[in-house]
This record gives sequence, structure tokens and C-alpha cells, in this order.
Amino acid sequence: MKTAVVGSGIGGLISALLLAKDGHDVTVYEKEPTIGGRLAFVQEGDYKIDKGPTIVLLPDMLMSILTEAGIDTNEIEFVRCDPLYDVHFADGQTYTKYADIHKQYEEIKGKFPGDEDGFLQFMSDMDERFTIGKPKFLESSFLKKRDYLNTQTLGSLLKLKAYRNVMGNLKHYFHHGKLQTAYGLQTLYIGGNPYTTPAIYSLVSFSEHKHGIYYIKGGYAGLLDHVKEACDLHGVTIRTSSPVLEIATKGGKATHIILGDQREPVDSVIINGDFPTASKLVRKEGLKPYKPSSGCVLLYMGVDGKYDDKEMHQFYLNDDFSGNMEDIFKNKRIPKEPSFYVFNPSKVDASLAPEGKSVLYVLIPVPVSERLDWKEASEFLSNLVLDTMEERGFEELRKRITWMKMRTPEEAMQEGLYSGGSFGIAPSLDQSGPFRPQVQPFTEKNIFAVGASIHPGGGIPIVMQGAKLVAQAFKEHCKSERKDVSLHEQDLGSIRSL
Ligand SMILES: Cc1cc2nc3c(=O)[nH]c(=O)nc-3n(C[C@H](O)[C@H](O)[C@H](O)COP(=O)(O)OP(=O)(O)OC[C@H]3O[C@@H](n4cnc5c(N)ncnc54)[C@H](O)[C@@H]3O)c2cc1C
Repeated sequence: MKTAVVGSGIGGLISALLLAKDGHDVTVYEKEPTIGGRLAFVQEGDYKIDKGPTIVLLPDMLMSILTEAGIDTNEIEFVRCDPLYDVHFADGQTYTKYADIHKQYEEIKGKFPGDEDGFLQFMSDMDERFTIGKPKFLESSFLKKRDYLNTQTLGSLLKLKAYRNVMGNLKHYFHHGKLQTAYGLQTLYIGGNPYTTPAIYSLVSFSEHKHGIYYIKGGYAGLLDHVKEACDLHGVTIRTSSPVLEIATKGGKATHIILGDQREPVDSVIINGDFPTASKLVRKEGLKPYKPSSGCVLLYMGVDGKYDDKEMHQFYLNDDFSGNMEDIFKNKRIPKEPSFYVFNPSKVDASLAPEGKSVLYVLIPVPVSERLDWKEASEFLSNLVLDTMEERGFEELRKRITWMKMRTPEEAMQEGLYSGGSFGIAPSLDQSGPFRPQVQPFTEKNIFAVGASIHPGGGIPIVMQGAKLVAQAFKEHCKSERKDVSLHEQDLGSIRSL
């Protein structure tokens, strides 16, 4: 089977490897000069820092899929984050999250007395929901109506309390508003509003404690070296600077991909570009409108010295978190007092900057809107955030910055991310599980899709899990193709014998 993968994001690359290991002839076409999509580095002289993903979640899932794809995980150095991270509130209080449940219990007992047993209940309930949700919603596709319109799946949705939203769900466990925020903000990792995103996503903050948070030495994007090596080993061809302009179809099948003035014949195609945008390669019209995830303004900087007293991951929350979310998701306004995330990898990784220097990354969640002036907005936000960081212990930060780069939703949109949203389509109820685009999204059954906007959703390990679903659907497709061919041969045989 000759398969074209359109896009070299992590979903495209892992799908390519899984298929190549099954003996298929796979070529990955990437429009940019480099591979990886959102998984990339920002480099400046001898400095480098991750451009997008920084928080390594679900390490076991990640490692097992990498191994399945033929990547030697012994070569990858995983560093466990413990504490997991700090959450700094506007009044100066800091809440630290630990991998160790007992330590967490004590932290809550000391800082938010009365909520410590609620935390244990949260962990126990979410453990049960994870056990139900993983096989049903992460490891299965919903390709036919009967895959979800059945009593078992609907029963699981009820058990998972999918009808609640994340913040509403947390009220059942925590009385302190600050704790509700500390366990709800994780929907922002996938660009969702914690006040409206379904409660199933509360599993992210549970998983941080249960499965841990890791850092990959050299940076998350360093993973690409290992993926590339495996592609070379297993015969996956990668063609960079090769934008696919169209996927030609005929008789209910994809037949060719169009690159410039070339038409290359294919037996199947896997779309990995962000789906709402990349689906236009197949159809220009009649496509469903999707709700985008939130965007981000990102600051990348090199600094003199290091901030070793700061955790690798930390969140700075403003005074009015719900107002902040309303500005981003409803009013589509630039927050006047933004909440933000700071990544300080030099704390554990000296390879990212010259000696005596370090790198920092700041992510500020913002709305996606074409009406906003991103130059003005990013300057306003960066000034506010740098001031807050100085006030909150990043001493003399401005003076120590040796270089700084900024990225806004405008650039994200130019690169092909739908509406400039950073994380794929929003994780709302009507765009989750069976209602998210699936791995075989078209009537042309030899067209597959993988990536953050496709079920099971965004985030590196989850997108990789999506690649596994593509490989399963691909296998089924090949089986049914073989059956069709053998039926056709039988028919020909009977005609000849007449
Ligand atoms: C700022 C930020 C922070 C994040 N933080 C985290 C985190 O901490 N942890 C985590 O797990 N995840 C995080 N994520 C999410 C994670 O990066 C994504 O879910 C994941 O990388 C998406 O992979 P993908 O397979 O969808 O491909 P993408 O990364 O979207 O790549 C798709 C590729 O397709 C190419 N392409 C598109 N159209 C064409 C075409 N027509 N022809 C050829 N090529 C094409 C694009 O150029 C691109 O290279 C973050 C994302 C962002 C943006």
C-alpha cells in the first residue's frame, strides 16, 4: 500500500512509523523546511528552548507508543518533576503540587484546611473514571453510529459525569475557590474553558498526580531526533518543503496527491495538518464549522544567570480567574490582568544555554480573534507579565534578558492552525469523543486523519494514541480491500467459467 502522510506533526510521524513497521510504503510530505509541526525549538545562537509543548504527561502511554513505533526509549532521558509545579495566586500565596499523594494531603491540610479529604475523594473517583474512560474514549474510535449510540457507551458517559463541567465537578470535592482553580486550570493545556469544558477533562489534573509530570532532557522537541532516526531505519521517506495542495478523489477513493504541478498516485492518505484547515485539501465546501481552542501569546527569552529557586513549571493566576476565562472564551478581549505559565527548564538542563545563562518561556492564554491588533496586544501583555514576574521573584528580569522573541495567534494561523487556536479545535462536549472528527473522517475510506483536532484530541501522548487508532483503522481497511479484491477475482472466475 502506497500511503502519503500530509504533515509531519507528531501524529503524522508516529502513524507513518506504525504503518511502515507493518510493511507499507509510506512517504511523509511536510510543507515547512523542518519536521515536527508544533513540536519544535526556538533557537537563538547557543540558546534553545521548546517552542510549544513543555509538560510531558502520561509517560507510560508515551513510552509504550514510542516503543511500538520502533523508537528506542532507552536513548531518551526522562526527568521526573517533583514538585510537579507551583501555582501562585494573586495575593502572594503559593500552592505546590507533588507527585506524592501523602505530601499533597499535608500541603492541602496546611494551606486549605478542610479540603484534604476532598482531595483523596477526588483522586479515588477520578481513578475509577480513568479506568472507565481510557479504553472507551482514548483507545477506541467512533467510526459508526453504533460505536457510540449503545447502552454501554452512554452508560460510561453518565458514569464519567460528562454532563458536568470541570469547575462544576470540582465543587463536589473542594470548598476553597483557589483549589478549584488549581485543579481546573489544566483544560487550558488543550485550549478549553474550565467553566464549560466537560468534566471528563478533570482527568488531566488527576493524571498529573497519578502518572506524574516529566521533562525530556534536551527539550520535548528533542524527541524528533529519535523519531527521525526510526523513520530512517524503518524506511519512511520524509519530504520537507513539500506542501500538498490537494487530495484528488474519484469513485469514492483518494487517488492522487497534488504537489505543485505534480500528481502522485496513492493507495491511501493520512491527513495530519490541523483538520479544519487541512480537510479543505479534500473538499472546499460543505465542511462543518468548528469552534477553535484558545490561542497564546508566547515569550521566549535568554537570560543572564539562572532562576534555580523557581520550579520548572509554574502558574501565575490573576485575582479574578473566572473573569479572565470569560474575557478569553466569551468576550474575546485581551485580559487586563492575565494569568500565565512560566517554563524554567534550565533548572535541570544546562544544555539549553551557554554557561552562566538560561532560558525562559512564558505562555499567556488569549482569545482567538482576527479583530485584535496582535502587535499592540502582545506588547501590552509582555510588559504586564514581565512586571508581574519581577514582582513575584524573578529578580531584575528585564535587565537580565539577553534576547526575547514573541509569538502570537497571528503567526499560528499563518502556519495553518485553525483560527490561530494553539491546541486544535476546542474540547467542548459537542467536539469531544464521538462528536470530534474521527480517524476516517470522509466517505472516502482510504483517507485517514490524525492530530490535535481529531479524536481522541490534543497533547503529544493523546495525539500519539490517535496515531494508534489510525493504524488500527488502516488495518481494517486493508482487510476489507483484500476481501473486495478476492470477491472480485471470484466473480471474474465465475464469469470465465461460463
Ligand atoms: C504553545 C503550545 C504549548 C503546548 N504545550 C503542550 C504540552 O505542554 N504538552 C503536550 O503534550 N502538548 C502540548 N501542546 C500540544 C501539542 O503540541 C500538539 O497537540 C501536537 O504537537 C499536535 O501534533 P499534530 O500531530 O496535530 O501535528 P501539528 O503539530 O499540528 O503538525 C502538523 C504538520 O502538518 C503540516 N502541514 C499542514 N498542512 C500541510 C500541507 N498541506 N502539506 C504538507 N504539510 C502540511 C504542518 O506544517 C505541520 O508541520 C502545546 C501546543 C502549543 C502550540
